[in-house]
Amino acid sequence: MKRIAVLGATGSIGRQALEVIGANTELELVAASSGSTPIDGVAPLTQTGGDVTELLERANPDVVLNAIVGFAGVHATLWALERGVTLALANKESLVAAGDLALAAWERGGSLLLPVDSEHSAAFQCLEHRAADTVEALVLTASGGPFRGRPREELEDVTPEQALAHPTWSMGPKITVDSATLANKGLELLEAHFLFRLPYERIEVVVHPSSIVHSLVRLRDGAVLAHLGYPDMRVPISYALTYPARATTPVPQLDLASGLKLEFHAPDVDAFPLLALARDAGEKGGTYPCAFNAANEVGVQAFLEGRIKFLDIAAAVEDVLARVDGAPARDLAELIAADRRARELVAVA
Ligand code: NAD
Ligand code: MG
Repeated sequence: MKRIAVLGATGSIGRQALEVIGANTELELVAASSGSTPIDGVAPLTQTGGDVTELLERANPDVVLNAIVGFAGVHATLWALERGVTLALANKESLVAAGDLALAAWERGGSLLLPVDSEHSAAFQCLEHRAADTVEALVLTASGGPFRGRPREELEDVTPEQALAHPTWSMGPKITVDSATLANKGLELLEAHFLFRLPYERIEVVVHPSSIVHSLVRLRDGAVLAHLGYPDMRVPISYALTYPARATTPVPQLDLASGLKLEFHAPDVDAFPLLALARDAGEKGGTYPCAFNAANEVGVQAFLEGRIKFLDIAAAVEDVLARVDGAPARDLAELIAADRRARELVAVA
């Protein structure tokens, strides 16, 4: 029996995780948290708001599923990594922001870090038990979001409602806007760098509109491995929670004779500059990825509230990255300070 704590249990990933746990007698839900929605009775131990590490201390789970959205997930990520508790990670922002601090905690704790992000779950499976020197590159796929194919001029006046209409995935509002700007793929590029310890020049991004191929791995002999499946987060959630057993799920088998389209295109970095800004922040290192994430979080919130326009999100991130010093954080307090400074620099009302 695996004892699981689900953080962010009221969200898109959290609710699907509760469904996966409820359908598997080998998985036991011992604790659940939410940001603000009451969740009493969902699990033996629950917490709404506050410091989630207090809940984790009380619950003492075998697996932490971190499905909190945004930098707020950093405490749970570091808690699990430091203690060697298995971390099923949906909250990409925490790994991106904490970066080297998270890697150091992971090294000390020696925990199993199982990505829930579909591309990283796919990459993890293609890379598992493979010698690092046989891997040429990792290729992350992006659906391209609702505005794929539009030139920059046509993105000027797009509304939050249009940005929230994702063609292939049904997700929480923040990541859905991130998918529309390609900031999500930027965050995933940074996430992949830290998870798989690959240099940025060996992580590619391609647009793949149907979201059937979740990632590919190029090997040095010219072979390319791909991971395919319908876009359904219950698969990577189940994989992470049941690892290494791989339980059955209610997700249908891929119908290969149904006229599946496996097209791949280069991303348009002119219309979607956040992808290039993320790569740049990653290459600079230090707390640049933290600042990228912080500015993007503030920008997305302002866009959703109608205070700025769609293209202003990328402009705000670019501006903040030009103004922060990016000095590495030596501890969590310094990381929180770097996150706060970047947020304060975002010039939106
Ligand atoms: P969501 O907005 O649907 O849910 C977020 C959850 O976090 C909610 O339970 C909310 O109560 C909680 N929360 C919000 N602010 C909080 C705070 N300050 N402190 C504690 N809890 C807080 O988001 P989601 O779509 O489920 O995404 C969750 C995470 O998973 C994000 O990091 C996202 O990038 C990642 N992810 C999501 C998907 C997806 O399909 N939804 C896919 C890949 C990765
Ligand atoms: Mg993803």
